[in-house]
Amino acid sequence: MRYYSTNHKAPTASLAEAVVNGLAGDRGLYMPERIVPLPEEFFTNMAQMTFADIACTVADAFFGDDIEQGELHRIVRDTLAFDCPVVPVTDSIYSLELFHGPTLAFKDVGARFMARLLRHFSKADNGETVNVLVATSGDTGSAVANGFLGVEGIHVYVLYPKGKVSKIQECQFTTLGHNITAIEVDGVFDDCQALVKSAFMDTELNRHMKLTSANSINVARFLPQAFYYFNAYARMKELGKADNLVVCVPSGNFGNITAGLFAREMGLPIKRFIAANNANDVFYQYLQTGNYAPKPSIQTIANAMDVGDPSNFARILELYGHDHAAIKAVICGATYSDDSIRETMKTCHDSFGYVLDPHGACAFRALSEGLADDENGVFLETAHPAKFKETVENAIGQKIGIPARLAEFMKGEKQSVQLGKDFCGFKSFLMSE
Ligand SMILES: *Cc1c(COP(=O)(O)O)cnc(C)c1O
Repeated sequence: MRYYSTNHKAPTASLAEAVVNGLAGDRGLYMPERIVPLPEEFFTNMAQMTFADIACTVADAFFGDDIEQGELHRIVRDTLAFDCPVVPVTDSIYSLELFHGPTLAFKDVGARFMARLLRHFSKADNGETVNVLVATSGDTGSAVANGFLGVEGIHVYVLYPKGKVSKIQECQFTTLGHNITAIEVDGVFDDCQALVKSAFMDTELNRHMKLTSANSINVARFLPQAFYYFNAYARMKELGKADNLVVCVPSGNFGNITAGLFAREMGLPIKRFIAANNANDVFYQYLQTGNYAPKPSIQTIANAMDVGDPSNFARILELYGHDHAAIKAVICGATYSDDSIRETMKTCHDSFGYVLDPHGACAFRALSEGLADDENGVFLETAHPAKFKETVENAIGQKIGIPARLAEFMKGEKQSVQLGKDFCGFKSFLMSE
């Protein structure tokens, strides 16, 4: 399979090139040239298949040309070392729980898959260590660090702003050791990002070590997210609840929902999607007006969705031939203030005994308001509520437990390298590695 750029000004790339480069040379996002529809009997039989078997079939359609099948299936099974179950909240609304992975958020799926794919390609490329640089304001660093933890041939450097990430977030990437180095930068998130950018542009450094990024727009992080949409449909079918299925996705950069749209293009019988936003409503406004007007992000309590110019919008346009009406026919939008999010967490807990995180709350609310009588709904619960403990406890008026694997991180010993925000210091540190 070849991958083309959404800007159409760069040559197409192989999977290996698309994964290692992340972005295309013209700053566009890579798109697979073809979307392979899956055979009818796959959908008929899906309710009898396990999540891992379903995922292997989907992976064959995307990556089958480029990786030997046995190896690809090993990568898929190793990625999905945890379940993504659907859990009933009301009679017609189900939660697709994507928080059972190591860092309790859906980004684990993409990060784990990308790590294993990168390992596969670096092995083929005479085994030189690949160094992943990632700047984080909190959540990306933990998903990437844990996804790559213990993967041979890869070293990860997580750069984060000193004193500006929560304790829970910090311990998820500073206590790991092994092939993960946490770098505490005396600055803000933008300084961390600037250091990473400068590193990619420094010729001497790139001669010294092989560098790559693990950005969320990477095809190896975004495409595998399609796996759990197929699983959600299969499990709903098993329950007799798959008719007129509406899937609602709490969206920020729109990578997660785009993977779902790909699944639908492959034949998955999803009737329609709802993109649930917090107060950052660029996409919602686009749906109403046909005019895409990016703006600076606004800080909210569903902070992983505080995005003012979602990068995967380019992929959605491409998927539907830049046709506003075609996009509107498949996706509708919703946008919620912090007050509505808090209120939703409270009512859902009081009425149905289900604890939502602030992101899932946007999606649950959009389904509660937008589902027709003959429709069934699944929303993506993208993070465990304990990741936003205080916000959730304040909203529902009750304490919530911390899962064992999160508590485990908090017991670990912090290891970090302290650096200033100037590039010279960062470069000489990497040159000595
Ligand atoms: C990253 C994230 C989102 C947004 O996902 P996108 O793919 O960027 O739309 C939603 N919820 C949580 C908890 C996240 O971490």
